[in-house]
Amino acid sequence: MTHLDEKMPAAISRLPELAYNVWWSWNPPARALFRRLDPTLWRSTQHNPVEMLHEITPERFAEVVQDAAFIRHYNKVMMLYDREMENGHLWFSSNYPELRDRTIAYFSAEFGLHNSLPIYSGGLGILSGDHAKEASDLAIPLVGVGFMYPQGYFRQRIPSHGWQEAIYEQIDHDRAPIRLARDEAGREIKISVRLHHTEVYARIWEVHVGRVRLYLMDTDVDENDPWNREMSARLYSGDSEVRIRQEIMLGIGGVRTLRAMGIAPAVWHMNEGHSSFLVLELMREKVAGGMSFAQAREAVREQTIFTTHTPVPAGHDAFPFNLMEQYFGEYWPQLGISRDEFLSLGQHEESWGTAFNMTVLALRAAGRINGVSELHGEVSRRMWQSVWSDRPVEDVPIVSVTNGVHVPTWLPSEIHTLYSKYLGPNWVEEQDDPLLWERLADIPDAELWGVHVALKHKLIDFLRERVRGRWVHGTDDPTGVITSGTLLDPGALTIGFARRFATYKRANLIFSDLDRLRRILLNSRRPVQIIFAGKAHPADDPGKMLIQQIYTHAKHHELGGRVAFIEDYDMHMARYLVQGIDVWLNNPRRPKEASGTSGMKAAINGVPNLSVLDGWWAEGYNGANGWAIGDAAVYSSQEEQDWADANSLYDQLEQEIVPLFYDRDRDNIPRGWVEVMRESIRSCTRHFGTRRMLKEYTTRLYIPAITGEPSTETAPPS
Ligand SMILES: *Cc1c(COP(=O)(O)O)cnc(C)c1O
Repeated sequence: MTHLDEKMPAAISRLPELAYNVWWSWNPPARALFRRLDPTLWRSTQHNPVEMLHEITPERFAEVVQDAAFIRHYNKVMMLYDREMENGHLWFSSNYPELRDRTIAYFSAEFGLHNSLPIYSGGLGILSGDHAKEASDLAIPLVGVGFMYPQGYFRQRIPSHGWQEAIYEQIDHDRAPIRLARDEAGREIKISVRLHHTEVYARIWEVHVGRVRLYLMDTDVDENDPWNREMSARLYSGDSEVRIRQEIMLGIGGVRTLRAMGIAPAVWHMNEGHSSFLVLELMREKVAGGMSFAQAREAVREQTIFTTHTPVPAGHDAFPFNLMEQYFGEYWPQLGISRDEFLSLGQHEESWGTAFNMTVLALRAAGRINGVSELHGEVSRRMWQSVWSDRPVEDVPIVSVTNGVHVPTWLPSEIHTLYSKYLGPNWVEEQDDPLLWERLADIPDAELWGVHVALKHKLIDFLRERVRGRWVHGTDDPTGVITSGTLLDPGALTIGFARRFATYKRANLIFSDLDRLRRILLNSRRPVQIIFAGKAHPADDPGKMLIQQIYTHAKHHELGGRVAFIEDYDMHMARYLVQGIDVWLNNPRRPKEASGTSGMKAAINGVPNLSVLDGWWAEGYNGANGWAIGDAAVYSSQEEQDWADANSLYDQLEQEIVPLFYDRDRDNIPRGWVEVMRESIRSCTRHFGTRRMLKEYTTRLYIPAITGEPSTETAPPS
């Protein structure tokens, strides 16, 4: 029994159980319950029920247990929760009852579940988090494996000079929805991996994601020397030696973690190449069990799935051979192979020389491989053809499963309520039924528009309150007050651009022609404003330079406060943005965006996309649900591509988007605009939800791997 459980009055004794299962975060009645428990704490903790339960006073508890309406609400939520945990009626358990006990192990270096557990940096992590949530909703027997980074990813601060600063904070284990995994005697479960002659230990944190469990390794334990305790401190920082150590822990330690938990997966899914070393550990186990290396390799192939995410060659981790020899010199003899055979498993020519590439290891080892959009599948087949050198590009066995977003996570309660009213109370369950979305036509324009306007006000209030909070604490200078959105106008057409600041995403494209932009923004009858947010990787100076440029524009009086840069983009802010913006802008240099998911979050909220035809939008755009920047052309130089795309972006704004937004009827409703919103929801929610994505992973990849069906879509490399 924990401290929290002791504090809890009997009538609401299961509140800690609910707080420790992030299931609450995507179920509106549960969210509403915690908000009702204490609205002020709800806001000040940024919606962190675990922290709330610690902070709340005994007097407040005494008050709520006297409140009959609160207790009814509590009982209703617990009933919903219990029904879902039983799961008999859910998709996987009713369609594949015979496979219910076959576990799928899903490995990812980051999981973005909720802002109270900041162990994600961006898109990859959010995707993993959404994957786990949807697996729970569908009762897919999945467990996740990852890292508990004691400091997580950094918090971003932009001082008045505009150069991003990274702040690392220790995650308070008592205030996050995590608990240490223990054996029956109550002892912490630990695993260890030998790293360069030293045994390195990790304890395991368990996270409840609905029905799904995540196991996160943490090397910050007494048994380890300081260097090894630090190893998992942060996400994506450090040199290649820190990375190889982290990735050995993730892949090899991850397999041992599941063994220590008594879990025997039927399928192993590597989400991106960071966890590829897991295939070596599976082979080692099989060789130790008596198989030859060739047999072990074949057996591992049948059980493994690899999802690649990066269409940029330099974005794949690769380690020099000497580092591999240091770390695997004691390991490859256990596989029964020579040094050369071992290194050839991941051998690849990098721009800087021959190396051991984590993606190549996974491509050679996994039986089933996919990219994350149709276009990205195509790019990946071309990019990795050398691994299957005897085949033409079209026969390279990399298929596509387009990404999606977890719909209940990314919609606010206002939209949940609207959909429940017009699509029916079971709309979440029926979300991939095409007929369901035809009922959107029943929502009156005024109501759809009204909800959007309310969400836009909510966003702008949220941004103002953030600035006020910092101003009051004396941590901001006046420049920060101006750039952070205090001058935003809730009536103006608002463009949102929030994503990682990698240069290929071209955050500054819209500033290519400043005079033209100024005319668009400062039109007094039809004003336009832009909100930017996003972090640059701490080692990415060109990315930080982009932030600085935009920050400089934001503080310049010439743009009249119509450009804002909001610091410290995270999931919490992302929700407000994708729900309250008018148009979601995305202008990467095609085809470098593997999929992109923030645009999907916007689309399902009725926020149309204005995007280059890259990643998911190349599939999603239908001519009526948003706007396309440029075409699918291939350019001879980057300058040419940038200029053509910038002009197309301005043309779309001037000729289509601004006029449509400001074309109002007598009730001040932009009828044409509302039609685009409706079409965005109709065409995107069903297709770009994790519902469709998880069903695809399950039927095309997981189940064939579980049942040992020979793969028709993929075949081993030569
Ligand atoms: C969705 C999301 C991302 C990924 O967005 P992209 O469009 O793929 O760049 C990154 N960070 C946060 C906080 C998000 O919510």
